[in-house]
Amino acid sequence: MKEAQYYERLNDLEVRCLLCPQFCTIHNGKRGFCHARVNQNGVLYTEIYNRAMAANLDPIEKKPLYHFYPGSDIFSLGTRGCNQRCDFCQNWHMLQPEATTFEITAQRAVKEALDQRSVGIAYTYNEPLIWYEFVLECAELAKSRGLKNVLVTNGMINPEPFRRLAPFIDAMNIDVKSMEESFYKKICKSKLEPVLDTCRMAVEAGIHVEITNLVIPTLNDSPELISKLTDFVLSLGKSIPLHFSAYFPCYKMTIQPTPLSTLLRAKEIAEEKLYYVYLGNVRAAGVGDTRCPQCSNLLVKRSGYFTELKGIEDQKCVKCGRPVDLVLS
Ligand code: SF4
Repeated sequence: MKEAQYYERLNDLEVRCLLCPQFCTIHNGKRGFCHARVNQNGVLYTEIYNRAMAANLDPIEKKPLYHFYPGSDIFSLGTRGCNQRCDFCQNWHMLQPEATTFEITAQRAVKEALDQRSVGIAYTYNEPLIWYEFVLECAELAKSRGLKNVLVTNGMINPEPFRRLAPFIDAMNIDVKSMEESFYKKICKSKLEPVLDTCRMAVEAGIHVEITNLVIPTLNDSPELISKLTDFVLSLGKSIPLHFSAYFPCYKMTIQPTPLSTLLRAKEIAEEKLYYVYLGNVRAAGVGDTRCPQCSNLLVKRSGYFTELKGIEDQKCVKCGRPVDLVLS
């Protein structure tokens, strides 16, 4: 355990956590909403500081990041807990305080990433922002050793801790689960605006950002909501990649899976305004390929997690010479 970095004492036995927009008030002996921070006699501790639950070398496309070192592998780490409670959570088994973890240190994580010739470290699987103290320490060390740091996140963090972490983060995939506050409140027990603020802060900080939206039939798949999301991503930048991901029933949600036609319609709507729109969790030809927005030349071919750079030379499209919107090694 390690003392948490962002909290205030309300009285001798109560504290308020200031790390994320849940702003939990935590009584003595109790945990916060994320199940990862505990109040012991008026001091807030993180219980997951040097604890991990999963460590793998993954294709970076799996995060998903399609425009950040495409085709590379990244050492991926996760632990337990989350500061949302989505009814469709795919990793709900990682929520519980009794979930089995193993010891990890920043030094060990960086050594593993270097030994495995990874492009960097991805903090992923569960919500990495509640792993704040470890991620900050590890990201700083990783950066000093020439590794990239990637967050795969729900975006729920307060501005002050985010700005402290941002200089060490190179890329983020941020879930924007809906453009409706009511969806966040009812389905995720969370809030929309802070997530949108994190997207804006990340872009302003110069971090490479990609956005993912899990499309759930009847809940967030209307053309109006897809248009609203598209306009938001456009406000961040026309070349910010948007990933529409197919939903499958999981945890508490029993709605039928997303039809391919719904995803294709979302792609069509978003492509009217954005350069790069992808479909994930689905088998369909070409929906993961990157094409030059100027001449449609195929730049990156993706099939499952097999990635092939094709029409690029000197960071430009070989056909029309337009600089590619990809971070390449
Ligand atoms: S990080 Fe955890 S304890 Fe802190 S406010 Fe968020 S959910 Fe609550």
